[in-house]
Amino acid sequence: MTFDTPLKIKLKTLTITVAFSVAAGTLTACQASNLKTQVPVKAHTANTQAQTDSIADKAFSKFSASFIDQFWQLYPGHAVYAGFYQYDNLLPIPDIKTQKKELAFHQKQLALLTTINPDTLNAKNASDFYILKNQIESEIWSATELKSGQWDPSQYNVAGVFGVILNTPYKPLNERLKTIIERMNHIPAYYQAAQNNLTNPTLTHTLLAVQQSKGTLALFENSIASKIAKSTLPKKDKQLFTQRLNTSSAAIKHYINWLDQKAIALEKSTTAKDFRIGKDLYEKKFKYDIFSSYTAKELFTKALSEKERVHQEMIKIADTLWPKYFKDTKKPANKLTMVKAIIDHISVKHVKRDEFVNSIRRQIPELEAFVLQHDLITMDKDKPLVVRETPEYQRGFAGASINAPGPYDAAANTYYNVTPLDNFNDDEAESYLREYNHWLLQILNIHEAVPGHYTQLVHSNKSKSLIKSIFGNGAMVEGWAVYTERMMLEEGYGDNEPELWLMYYKWNLRVIMNSILDYSIQVNGLTEDKALDMMVNQAFQEPAEAQGKWRRATLSQVQLTSYFTGYSEIYQLREELKKATGDKFNLKDFHDQFLSFGSAPVPIIKKLMFDDYVNSHK
Ligand code: ZN
Ligand code: ZN
Repeated sequence: MTFDTPLKIKLKTLTITVAFSVAAGTLTACQASNLKTQVPVKAHTANTQAQTDSIADKAFSKFSASFIDQFWQLYPGHAVYAGFYQYDNLLPIPDIKTQKKELAFHQKQLALLTTINPDTLNAKNASDFYILKNQIESEIWSATELKSGQWDPSQYNVAGVFGVILNTPYKPLNERLKTIIERMNHIPAYYQAAQNNLTNPTLTHTLLAVQQSKGTLALFENSIASKIAKSTLPKKDKQLFTQRLNTSSAAIKHYINWLDQKAIALEKSTTAKDFRIGKDLYEKKFKYDIFSSYTAKELFTKALSEKERVHQEMIKIADTLWPKYFKDTKKPANKLTMVKAIIDHISVKHVKRDEFVNSIRRQIPELEAFVLQHDLITMDKDKPLVVRETPEYQRGFAGASINAPGPYDAAANTYYNVTPLDNFNDDEAESYLREYNHWLLQILNIHEAVPGHYTQLVHSNKSKSLIKSIFGNGAMVEGWAVYTERMMLEEGYGDNEPELWLMYYKWNLRVIMNSILDYSIQVNGLTEDKALDMMVNQAFQEPAEAQGKWRRATLSQVQLTSYFTGYSEIYQLREELKKATGDKFNLKDFHDQFLSFGSAPVPIIKKLMFDDYVNSHK
């Protein structure tokens, strides 16, 4: 766990982010009448679990409640991100003492947890058990082996939590400003500890930290300072703020200067630490972050062959579309060049820039109707999705994202934030609209909303678990959204229009390519030139997009593979169940049961549902 960075860092770095929405509290007995009696411990779905908790279940519930409470005290910044504000005034100093305390905490918790046998737990608790165990082991591994606190200066940044406190009206403004002033007292010690820890920084992470720390400085000197100046705080508080602004700014500037000097030295050095973490660390990080039944190497191999399959499908479609769009033009000899020509040609079909938000709004009911008509997944209309323009303070990226209420605020709406194209000039808007053209916009809405992220959230809310809402599995969440894109098209959404399939494959190729790139760069030492060439010439990406992806792949590890891994595992689970049940297989049952386990790792869901699904579909 890094210091004071978003807890959901694995998801936060995506353009398309998803917050988890599961409330604290226990399940009500609304589905108890569906309870199956024959199955001993694991019920038919996680929602219809045994009515009475076993002794082990009670012990586990007690353990997880106590774990979370201590976890928030130890990581008050993460608590703020999760919407738990009790410790919002605390800013831990990332020094040796704190690190030792965190490690000791996790070791002790692991010892306590392993006294519980997961086989004696109900399905909801069993999946929570595996998530928690993985989380704790991951923390211990990060602290003792990965040690990114020594080489990644960008993980030291106080801005995020101050930003949340400034912009979230969870208590009156003056109280939040006072909390900000109190927290600022610890900023100089925070950055001094960071500097002490950073014994071996990489150049790429150092340059990122310089850039981001300048943003942090601006947050204090501009946004926070002006809010304080305009506030009704008493004069003595404003004076205290001015003092602390001076010392905080000086500390951040000192950190930036120190990093600048480091960067100059690292640029000249031939022995500087590589940003690539290499094979062994990568395999382990993959194991903890993704929680897959594949190894990273196996997944990489799978992605390579999937890329070939998708290329072949695209070539087939482009071949048949060629006469329709290029009647009098000779087909390019290079098959992928032909595919690209068709894609470029048909991308001009897109909505007008001022119609972007409305066209998305209109499409959600159409997707819902399709899912209902084809009996694909149970749709719950209790909490409709609200499509809205992204609020100003959240507009970091263009694009669209699902914004779900946090674990402590489950009553709030789920929003589909769509950023209007107001800040684009004509060329930028045109380029963006060509990317999110008539066909791709539909795929995006499937992914983000129905039956992708939004539908998954609605289902996971029925299996309420604080553990899953805080530590839910990102590969399952992203994998589900990617899986639904293919599933919808396979079920006939869009009437098998070749253009829609072609655009789908282009979109899917990005997910496949992310996996290939990440492994190739981090483990196989792929260079920038070759990476860019691969993205542009094999995945039809624009140079600017490819450049951004290269940068992301140098700064993060493993996260880029989460989409493809989750998708592959869900698809494979479905195919295995089809094989096991033959013509008794029922797609809707599969989806409903799969989603009933909440945001748990796919291998765990498989373990908990496979036999039961087969037994109930004989
Ligand atoms: Zn146009
Ligand atoms: Zn997504």
